Amino acid sequence: MHVAVVGAGISGLSAAWRLRHRLGAGVDITLLDQAGRFGGKLTTGEVAGVRVEQGAESVLLRDPVVAELAGALGLGALAQPAPLPAGIVAAGATRPVPRGTLLGIPTDPSTLDSAGPARATPEPPGGPDPLLAAGADVSVGALVRPRYGDEVVDRLVDPLLGGVYAGRADDLSLAVTVPALHAAAQHERTLSAAVRAAQAAAPRTTGPMFGVPAGGLSAFATALAAASGATARLDAPVRELAPTPSGWRLTVGSTRDPEHLTADAVVLAVPARPAARLLSGFAPAVAAEVGVLDYASIALVTLVLPGDVLPASSGFLVPATEGYAIKAATFVGHKWPHLAAPDVSLVRLSLGRYGETRVLQCADADLAELARADLAAILGTRLPDPVGVRVQRWGGALPQYGPGHLDRIARARAGLAEHPTLALAGAGYDGVGIPVCVRSGFAAADRLAATPAADRLAAAARLAAAPAADRPAAAAADRSAAGPGVGRRAAAADVEPAEISTGD
Ligand SMILES: Cc1cc2nc3c(=O)[nH]c(=O)nc-3n(C[C@H](O)[C@H](O)[C@H](O)COP(=O)(O)OP(=O)(O)OC[C@H]3O[C@@H](n4cnc5c(N)ncnc54)[C@H](O)[C@@H]3O)c2cc1C
Repeated sequence: MHVAVVGAGISGLSAAWRLRHRLGAGVDITLLDQAGRFGGKLTTGEVAGVRVEQGAESVLLRDPVVAELAGALGLGALAQPAPLPAGIVAAGATRPVPRGTLLGIPTDPSTLDSAGPARATPEPPGGPDPLLAAGADVSVGALVRPRYGDEVVDRLVDPLLGGVYAGRADDLSLAVTVPALHAAAQHERTLSAAVRAAQAAAPRTTGPMFGVPAGGLSAFATALAAASGATARLDAPVRELAPTPSGWRLTVGSTRDPEHLTADAVVLAVPARPAARLLSGFAPAVAAEVGVLDYASIALVTLVLPGDVLPASSGFLVPATEGYAIKAATFVGHKWPHLAAPDVSLVRLSLGRYGETRVLQCADADLAELARADLAAILGTRLPDPVGVRVQRWGGALPQYGPGHLDRIARARAGLAEHPTLALAGAGYDGVGIPVCVRSGFAAADRLAATPAADRLAAAARLAAAPAADRPAAAAADRSAAGPGVGRRAAAADVEPAEISTGD
């Protein structure tokens, strides 16, 4: 059996790894990516000799799947952040992010006092019905604004969501971005009761909420690719995908010199737009559902400044209402002790919000200077000239899940019922956070592993893995008992991806 995995971001890599784990040595896996490296939005680089993450920065640990995977890959324990506070800029000053809120939404609006970034209006009494009808989805802003007022949305929820999605509370789906609150809103009649119920339903975790593979996210991606035993085809754009009587035909490479590859099954782990293009030839209705998803563009400016010039904090978020170009600052060396370098301060500044791309049209040098000037203004201090600057642009990188996104994706997946050897995976479907993408890749692999040809391979793999004496038992064993994250579903509701970072 030959499986082609199109897209070697974390979703495709996870699918390839899981396929190997489920199906053993008998499956041939080809990993294709148009880029010249593994990892997609996971990419680690260097600025002035200091290691930096140039895409995703860290992993939400509420779902242990990444920590387990890193362990299985021999990468050791994840590095942890220092327990430092983060701030939100309000009326020109940096104030602490209020504690005990759900993405900035408090259980009791009166707990937001004037020392914090926002004050809430008292919530109107609840009506006779739950806040949301069963299965309905709205934007986060539509739920919160009429109940707690504009300040809570504009100064708390918006910057927290913006730090993750570069999107706005009034546009983003409640079901995708705050799934626990979405669930609670379908049976509670006030927002405060719904927030309380959502918080009570969240699994209790001790220790830090975030971590990152100590060797960096690129090393994690490369290790995952190696452990999948897949044949890597980098610099290999897939331009067409077509069903054949026995499987799939992929057209790879330039239009002038195309190459054709056949596969029994395909994992499509590319963002929504390229996925829609590849689907359009044989599943136009599915392509239309998938291709609706829009993306925000952002830029990251990393500055290496001489000396210890940043406050003792992990960074801050900047609401759009404050009028700065930067939307977040992460004091990398403070937040991540394993990345601290002697005699310099490392800061990562993020610019660009959905629908506001003008600032991103600046040349790199101007963008870096604008970001540095904003940082100095917010800190109220002069900053030295940087000894290292890196501008990383991410065009069309962050999915903007509107209300109803999950229903669209369910329809798209149902529309592929007649193609059981094709599986969709990635941030365009299930959620933006790295753990969600890993599970999305796992679920895609599991779909393909359930096809008859794969089922035979899985049985053979189980037998081969079992000690000789145990082989009869192994033959009967549940094939789902294999490796990290086993038996768990890939779903946005597994985590709150909105918590992936408060400093980006
Ligand atoms: C700046 C930034 C910061 C982030 N920070 C965090 C964070 O701190 N924590 C977190 O959990 N998440 C974070 N995220 C989100 C997270 O990184 C992404 O959601 C996740 O990495 C997406 O993985 P993916 O595999 O689904 O897609 P991608 O990483 O986009 O991978 C898709 C791959 O498909 C390839 N491809 C596209 N078209 C084709 C084609 N036609 N043929 C072949 N290959 C193709 C691309 O080259 C790419 O490698 C961040 C994202 C960004 C952009």
